[in-house]
Amino acid sequence: MPKTKKVGITGRYGTRYGTKARKQVKTILENLKKPHKCPQCATKAVKRISVGVWSCKKCGLTFTGGAYLPVTPLGKEKGRIIDTLTYGSETEK
Ligand SMILES: [Zn+2]
Repeated sequence: MPKTKKVGITGRYGTRYGTKARKQVKTILENLKKPHKCPQCATKAVKRISVGVWSCKKCGLTFTGGAYLPVTPLGKEKGRIIDTLTYGSETEK
């Protein structure tokens, strides 16, 4: 299957499923496959084992996260809200 610069990782799908769907999958897959930083040892060795389950190959830490990303933008926001509720407003910190 041809893997060009334009189609990249979605070269495996050939001409199937339409351009728009392939482009959307391309961004998701590229972000999924790129190395992610471990929250414990800060090494870029985090891989996805299952949907939402991530594991660090170096320190063996297994944690939950987003389906396609270890930390989603919404998950970051959630953490910020929890911090605010626990430790008071952001300005008080
Ligand atoms: Zn680690």
